[in-house]
Amino acid sequence: MKRLLLLGSTGSIGRQCLDVVQNHSDKFEIVGLGARRNAVLLQEQAERFKPRHVALVDESQADALDASVLPGGAKTFTGPDALTDLVEACDADVAVIATVGAAGFRPTFASVAKGMNIALANKEVLAMAGDRLMNAARARGVAVAPIDSEHSAILQCIQCGRDEEILKIILTASGGPFRGKTPADFENVSVKEALKHPTWTMGAKITIDSATLFNKGLEVIEAHHLFNVPLDRIDVIVHPQSIIHSMVEFHDGSIMAQLGDADMRTPIQYALSYPERIERTGRKLNLLETGELTFFPPDLSSFRCLAMAYEAARIGGTMPAFLSVANEEVVDAFLNERICFGAIPRLLEACMKRHAAVNDYTLDDIFAADAEARAIARELIAST
Ligand code: MG
Repeated sequence: MKRLLLLGSTGSIGRQCLDVVQNHSDKFEIVGLGARRNAVLLQEQAERFKPRHVALVDESQADALDASVLPGGAKTFTGPDALTDLVEACDADVAVIATVGAAGFRPTFASVAKGMNIALANKEVLAMAGDRLMNAARARGVAVAPIDSEHSAILQCIQCGRDEEILKIILTASGGPFRGKTPADFENVSVKEALKHPTWTMGAKITIDSATLFNKGLEVIEAHHLFNVPLDRIDVIVHPQSIIHSMVEFHDGSIMAQLGDADMRTPIQYALSYPERIERTGRKLNLLETGELTFFPPDLSSFRCLAMAYEAARIGGTMPAFLSVANEEVVDAFLNERICFGAIPRLLEACMKRHAAVNDYTLDDIFAADAEARAIARELIAST
């Protein structure tokens, strides 16, 4: 029985993770559940999965939590440090980090420090301080298994060869809802249109990031740290059908690909069972129904966010963290209809110009970059 601590349990990945746990209740047990603000759903989940402890970040929602129906001795943590407190209180084999943005940063490092293996959906943590996280994981002897369809694919493909035989990682991108469009088309895009992803059902922030291709930029940085492959050997290729989830090219010219249905429960399950595979029930990919598989180069001049993420990664130091946090603020402003879709790359570009990256950074430098990014992004958003 693997004991799981699930942070971000009420979000899209969190809910699908609980589906996987429900289907394999003989293999996985939930020992802790943490959420940001959906106290009603958290309460329901806690009654169903009987964790030892629960955490809710938004204190104003805490009234909806009723600890009396939780298993005896269960503790409830609330407030801004609730997720980290939950990590400290729980003994788990795997910490599933399904939070969004910088919110998962401290709890992820705390989980590694406690020696828990990590199943990581919160890609911003890797983008913000990937080398520090991977070093900490190596030093503590814990595995970091990605819950991202592309990186789950890469993890499976790289097992076909040795590290020194890898020529390239080929990250596939669906291209999002605006593939083929140009910046002129972006001005009047509504929130509703941007939230309509052609192949995946995901949370709001990542869906917008997929529409701007910023998500693919984060994924390049994520792959760079997870698999220790230089940035210039990570290519992005647009594959609108989202059937091939990514590929690895070896130096003998062989390209290994992983295919599957566009269902996040597949990579979630693999991250939970890794390094083993367990049976999955439900819909599987039927190749006879997939039709044609096509590939295109990404349009970096129309989708500036992808180019910017590469640039931030090349600058390194605190720049990727700064850009990732600035993007959180800018996307939030778009979701709240304060800026237009086309303003997202413009604002990010303006933000990036204002940050002087700290190269040999500490985690405190990351927290400082986070605060600076929020302040600058808010200032620029307000003056738009
Ligand atoms: Mg992905």
